[in-house]
Amino acid sequence: MVTTDITPIKIQKSSNLRIKELDYNKITFGKLFSDHMFYADYKNNEWSDAQILPYGPLLMSPATSALHYGQAIFEGMKAYKNDKGEVFLFRPLDNHKRINISAERMAMATIPQEVFMSGLTQLVDLDRDWVPDTDGSSLYIRPFIVGTDEFIGVKPSDNYRFYIITSPAGKYYNEPVKVLVETNYIRAVEGGVGYVKASGNYGRSLFPAKLAQQRGYHQIVWTDARNHRYLEESGTMNLMFVIDDVLITPPLGDTILAGITRDSVLTLARDWKMKVQERKISIDEVLDAHKKGTLEDAFGTGTAATIAQIAQIGFEGKDYMLPPAEGRIFSNRVAKELEDIRKGKVPDIHNWMYKVG
Ligand SMILES: *Cc1c(COP(=O)(O)O)cnc(C)c1O
Repeated sequence: MVTTDITPIKIQKSSNLRIKELDYNKITFGKLFSDHMFYADYKNNEWSDAQILPYGPLLMSPATSALHYGQAIFEGMKAYKNDKGEVFLFRPLDNHKRINISAERMAMATIPQEVFMSGLTQLVDLDRDWVPDTDGSSLYIRPFIVGTDEFIGVKPSDNYRFYIITSPAGKYYNEPVKVLVETNYIRAVEGGVGYVKASGNYGRSLFPAKLAQQRGYHQIVWTDARNHRYLEESGTMNLMFVIDDVLITPPLGDTILAGITRDSVLTLARDWKMKVQERKISIDEVLDAHKKGTLEDAFGTGTAATIAQIAQIGFEGKDYMLPPAEGRIFSNRVAKELEDIRKGKVPDIHNWMYKVG
């Protein structure tokens, strides 16, 4: 068991606040970072030196192990502000559990809940003015852990640093997305690391995504590594279809990231007595439903975009148009319900919202 004594967190406030640079009506994703950041160090088998300090560059050795062999994992989550100005995190304890699943798979130090949650809540509380309250906006939060040994032998690092940075976020996609079903490159394999948020998963996806973008698509739908028939994820989102009033999503396993948005959508669908199936779904089944007119909805789910409706699916040189996004019953309803829960407009019956401060 890791021992931990990080309280109190040392806080050094910025003397040069940049909050005035934030135009609440023109928020772009992931470019502007809030005034402060958090970090804690893991050394001699324990987490210590937890601190909040002004956001900015840090000195590191060029031999830092994470830079060479990719012991680097992250989380993505959001804080929301309601009409009363109160700030809430969405299901943060689930992000904590997941970062430790990633840490274990990557042979990295896990992080105690107390370190994760106290760093998170104190940082967001200090920068609460950075949480926008306009429609569809939030504060995106990026916790991450990297190996920090100054050593270039291939082995698990003995030292780690856990950081949290935050960035105001508006809407991620402004329109329904066009996706290309990928049948050459792969994202994840059985026995691999597709189910964890390891940095390398994203680096490897960029080249195929770039090729798809050159052909006019927003992102790729990844298929199984063996046969390229079963649909797995869309970009960095989980994938869902509504066929004949049944909500279908690929089952969790080695190759699928267990999205918190995915789980939230499935939970709401079950609350609404909708039929839900977590099972393999092939491109053939989707195109067959498209032909019969029973493919009612298709969308990706993830923290950044929440619900990204799919307008068009490209497969083997043909494009298949889906029903107009505005008229889709399920994806529009669930997107609105999630936004309403997050902004405190409807009761939070599953206790997903975690109050800050
Ligand atoms: C983060 C992520 C998701 C979505 O997870 P959420 O918890 O809903 O944000 C889905 N797929 C991949 C590959 C991811 O990295």
